[in-house]
Amino acid sequence: MTYAYDDQNIFAKILRGEIPNTTVLETEHSLAFRDLYPQAPVHVLVIPKGAYVSYDHFASEASDAEIVDYTRAIAEVCRREGVTLTAGEGFRMISNAGANGVQEVPHLHVHILGGRPLGRMLAKV
Ligand code: AMP
Repeated sequence: MTYAYDDQNIFAKILRGEIPNTTVLETEHSLAFRDLYPQAPVHVLVIPKGAYVSYDHFASEASDAEIVDYTRAIAEVCRREGVTLTAGEGFRMISNAGANGVQEVPHLHVHILGGRPLGRMLAKV
């Protein structure tokens, strides 16, 4: 079973330069930009430039270079946004996948949220 990637998703369009974004960081294999509808004072999305749907897709099929670049990009975004434990008050990282994860955009992204206390991880439903 292979992962199906839809290259018409909105983050693929951002990567192709077809729609604008507010870039926080760009590296060889990764792009970080501000969420259009921020849910906290810090709300940055970090995506790999490769065509990966979800974190499990990326973690199983990406090259070592892509994985290292992406992981270091996340750390650099946290540093630039002032949410690290060395300089700030912490953050939450979320990566939604598929229907149960309520993923809206089918290109891997990690949300980095911070700048205020974020409450418990999951609301009771
Ligand atoms: P998810 O539900 O995890 O797939 O989250 C998708 C996120 O993408 C949401 O937080 C949206 O606010 C955000 N989003 C959608 N379109 C854009 C866009 N053009 N630029 C930046 N963020 C976007």
